[in-house]
Amino acid sequence: MADMKIPRATAKRLPIYYQYLNILADAGQKRISSSEFAAGVKVDPRTIRRDFSHFGTLGKRGYGYDVADLLAFFKKILKQDQVTKVALVGVGNLGHALLNFNFHRDNNIAIRAAFDIDPAVVGTTIDDIRVYPLTELQNQLQKQAIKVVILTVPEAAAQTVTDQLIAAGVEGIMNFTPTRINVPATVIVQNVNLTSELQTLIYFLNHRTLDQQGT
Ligand code: ATP
Repeated sequence: MADMKIPRATAKRLPIYYQYLNILADAGQKRISSSEFAAGVKVDPRTIRRDFSHFGTLGKRGYGYDVADLLAFFKKILKQDQVTKVALVGVGNLGHALLNFNFHRDNNIAIRAAFDIDPAVVGTTIDDIRVYPLTELQNQLQKQAIKVVILTVPEAAAQTVTDQLIAAGVEGIMNFTPTRINVPATVIVQNVNLTSELQTLIYFLNHRTLDQQGT
């Protein structure tokens, strides 16, 4: 299962399914029909069936889905059954906000260390997370066995810092900078560009057709 290849679009929907299943489970719902599930996650039922087909049979015809079973399945797939330790580099406005946020609604992702070059922020603690000087990067990441990093440095520093992250053994980078960073094939980058997300939204607002809803 670890090497399972699934389409990127499917992978991006898995957290949506997982989060909705958590809501259902919290509300005490034991099972859900596939059409209700589709309406809840606002994804086309055919897309859900295709997504789920990558994992074998997850539901039963005429029964729908067992919420606890499906939740347990996605929890494992998304590695939410263990804590993933994360570091953040670049404690500016955005970095600061993410440190305060610290994914606190999800107990299984935890920012454990932050890094910056600015003496004004180095040595401070934000929401219990210590801000280390960048010179401590390799040492701390290796000591704390952190493989995932959120990158919120200025655009001009993005590639230099990325190279340092790779040298420190980082395997996954959530890149909030607008730079398309270069990494070896073994490192996975998830680009999050808030400006382009908003531009896409504005584009869709101005070129609205029905089939763009909910994608
Ligand atoms: P944001 O873009 O998050 O709103 P900002 O405008 O407050 O941030 P930026 O100039 O984007 O500040 O810098 C973000 C943070 O990255 C700052 O705290 C800055 O000190 C830090 N930074 C700059 N260069 C580096 C670097 N090479 N390594 C680590 N941190 C860096």
